[in-house]
Amino acid sequence: MDCSKVGKLILALRQEKGMTQKALADAMNISDRTISKWERGNGCPDVSLLRELSDILGVKIEKLLAGDLEPNETDGGNMKKVKFYVCPECGNILCCTGDSEIACCGRTLAPLTARPEDSEHAICVEEIEDDFYVTMQHEMSKQHYITFAAYVTYDRVLLVKLYPEQPAEIRFPKMHGGALYVCCSEHGLIRKMKSKK
Ligand SMILES: [Zn+2]
Ligand SMILES: [Zn+2]
Repeated sequence: MDCSKVGKLILALRQEKGMTQKALADAMNISDRTISKWERGNGCPDVSLLRELSDILGVKIEKLLAGDLEPNETDGGNMKKVKFYVCPECGNILCCTGDSEIACCGRTLAPLTARPEDSEHAICVEEIEDDFYVTMQHEMSKQHYITFAAYVTYDRVLLVKLYPEQPAEIRFPKMHGGALYVCCSEHGLIRKMKSKK
């Protein structure tokens, strides 16, 4: 542990929270001299205090020990880089535009990787009035169904949740360009590229 790095991080996080050394010390039932000692790099927090300290400061213990939050690179907010995550336990769907550590039901989730359509997962898109009408000839049983469809353009994601026993059809308002995704409960994420505007 690099005590001076750890100390600087504690100082920065404490100030971010608007806490005085005394307030932090009181919250942890220790003396403010201890906090001051850490922040000056003259000693690292004892292992027994790390859990509480990380809870109060709102960071993971590993980050606290590393003395560096290693933030993600700032992205341009381009929704086209969106990644989808599905929790295998509860079916929660999450989407996110940058690199994140996503967890649900106690598990770390990896982003779904999209693959192109295949015969079982062919995506048919028709234009009806101002909408794209998306249909699939895919079964919609509880065991095997299309869980969601998402239409992604540079500045928005339209996500539509589907349920078993309902038809695999979705209407999206027409937008410029973008990409269409569907997710199958068994076969994962499938991407269709739009050819027309
Ligand atoms: Zn979950
Ligand atoms: Zn399938």
